[in-house]
Amino acid sequence: MAVNKMLKFVHVSRDMPTKRMPKLRNKDYNEVYQEFAAEKAEEQSSRCSQCGVPFCQTHCPLHNNIPDWLRLTAEGRLKEAYELSQDTNTFPEICGRICPQDRLCEGNCVIEQSGHETVTIGSVEKYITDTAWEKGWVKAITPKVERSESVGIIGAGPAGLAAADRLRKMGIQVTIYDRYDRAGGLLTYGIPGFKLEKDVVMRRNDLLSEGGVNFELNTNIGIDISFHDIRSKHDAILIGTGVYKARELSGIGSSNKGIVKALDYLTASNRSNMGDHVPEIENGELNAKGKRIVVIGGGDTAMDCVRTAIRQGAKSVKCLYRRDKKNMPGSQRETQNAEEEGVEFVWLSAPKGFVGEGEVSGVVVSKMRLGAPDSSGRQSPEEIVGADYTEDADLVIKALGFNPENLPTLWDTPELEVTRWGTIKTDFKTHSTSLPGVYAAGDIVRGASLVVWAIRDGREAADSILAFLDTQTSIAAE
Ligand SMILES: Cc1cc2nc3c(=O)[nH]c(=O)nc-3n(C[C@H](O)[C@H](O)[C@H](O)COP(=O)(O)OP(=O)(O)OC[C@H]3O[C@@H](n4cnc5c(N)ncnc54)[C@H](O)[C@@H]3O)c2cc1C
Ligand code: SF4
Repeated sequence: MAVNKMLKFVHVSRDMPTKRMPKLRNKDYNEVYQEFAAEKAEEQSSRCSQCGVPFCQTHCPLHNNIPDWLRLTAEGRLKEAYELSQDTNTFPEICGRICPQDRLCEGNCVIEQSGHETVTIGSVEKYITDTAWEKGWVKAITPKVERSESVGIIGAGPAGLAAADRLRKMGIQVTIYDRYDRAGGLLTYGIPGFKLEKDVVMRRNDLLSEGGVNFELNTNIGIDISFHDIRSKHDAILIGTGVYKARELSGIGSSNKGIVKALDYLTASNRSNMGDHVPEIENGELNAKGKRIVVIGGGDTAMDCVRTAIRQGAKSVKCLYRRDKKNMPGSQRETQNAEEEGVEFVWLSAPKGFVGEGEVSGVVVSKMRLGAPDSSGRQSPEEIVGADYTEDADLVIKALGFNPENLPTLWDTPELEVTRWGTIKTDFKTHSTSLPGVYAAGDIVRGASLVVWAIRDGREAADSILAFLDTQTSIAAE
């Protein structure tokens, strides 16, 4: 009789891959979590209860077939687990590393709701695909037939790359344009190596090139080539440009030197770690070494900044957030990692202005308390009058979120409709924009979101583009 390998959650406890010691990891940019050993991955997968209605799958934006690939992993059938996992996810090893699983798949695991801890879904997903890379199972695209239609994709972030993969598999000629010199979008230049090592992203870019995706890097659409020219060169266009306009702070002293934008800071660090010559790192403008750092914000970007500052050798790193720990938008896991690495959180604190003449030397901080819930149900922070104080700082990093750039103006295309937040207006199902043959996906549609949603949108938009191209072909044949 076959032995049931699953439902072991009653006897086997949850175990994450080993986390490197804070004292060791806070000096380099290597990932924090180590790989599962094969036995551990099998053991942890065997904890899944194989529910009839898997809520983990429902709450994964890609609807990954999680219970089935957990079962295959528990049975040691890793190649089949990989085939199944990559069928719904273009970059499973990336999502396994950086999805906020506590809010998505793992946050809805039924065994947790029955008092046992959740299955470590993300770590198993990472393990399956990292093993597939090691074993040579991850292959470049070889389309069965080549088609003559071409699609231009603006933006080489996860949305654009996921769409490119899907279109190329169907034999479409794909060119991706990006203003940066490397593909990957925020996977390459936003997210630090301690969450996502860069060779994990680069090997994906290389594989797409090998499969026939053409990358036109250092090409800023709207500056180097007009949007109209790009449209006339291709049969369809996908816009996946992300959101990059940093939200600003006002207040006295906000134009002082030494108050910098989070993404400038993170990009400089990522570039330098990839071996680029970055003058702002060398001259100290975007370098925390030996400085008192204050980061303003409570999201994932703020967490990445504080942890980068620790690694650059800051004298002290403080994070100001206007609500409390419970109400932070950033992942709890990353906040805990930051605390372990030596970051000090100053909860219920908001910046009111800056001290310094020409150069910043401190942040004027208002102390806050939580008042009545707002329309979203979150308690609104209220200032405690008379409780202001100054937090000393040599470098202040603003991590308050991002807005979209004004694409209709930048691209001289007023007919491209946008929402009142400036994101591109698309059809909910097809991702088509107000311009025929032009689609959009990822953060430029959703606003600042997650990698897994960008992948989903990119895949869905690719399917709609294929349907559009097929319709065009049948019209031409009539
Ligand atoms: C610091 C930071 C940390 C994050 N951490 C996480 C995390 O841990 N987990 C998670 O799931 N998500 C995280 N996110 C969010 C995630 O990175 C984004 O949701 C995701 O990358 C969006 O993908 P995208 O393809 O829409 O855009 P992007 O990744 O932003 O890519 C857009 C690309 O378009 C290019 N581009 C823009 N305009 C033009 C133009 N005019 N011409 C040519 N190219 C252009 C850009 O250069 C860029 O390469 C983080 C974001 C930031 C900023
Ligand atoms: S893609 Fe993200 S949400 Fe989906 S199973 Fe993987 S880690 Fe969980």
